[in-house]
Amino acid sequence: MGKNSFCCEMMKSYSTFTCKSCKDEFECPDSLIYRAQDGDYGIIIHDGGQSYISIEYCPWCGSELK
Ligand SMILES: [Zn+2]
Ligand SMILES: [Zn+2]
Repeated sequence: MGKNSFCCEMMKSYSTFTCKSCKDEFECPDSLIYRAQDGDYGIIIHDGGQSYISIEYCPWCGSELK
């Protein structure tokens, strides 16, 4: 999977999601997927901090994320 390609439309829409009214993806309750600078993916935990659970497989289609 290339850097700018996504396994499915769900992953694409959540990975590229940006909210105009929130500072970042951790602040936005509508944001689900975090993309780290090193390419890792995570599911955001909205606990007021910057927590996320790293995931290796797409939660929608099950493809390996790398
Ligand atoms: Zn928002
Ligand atoms: Zn997928």
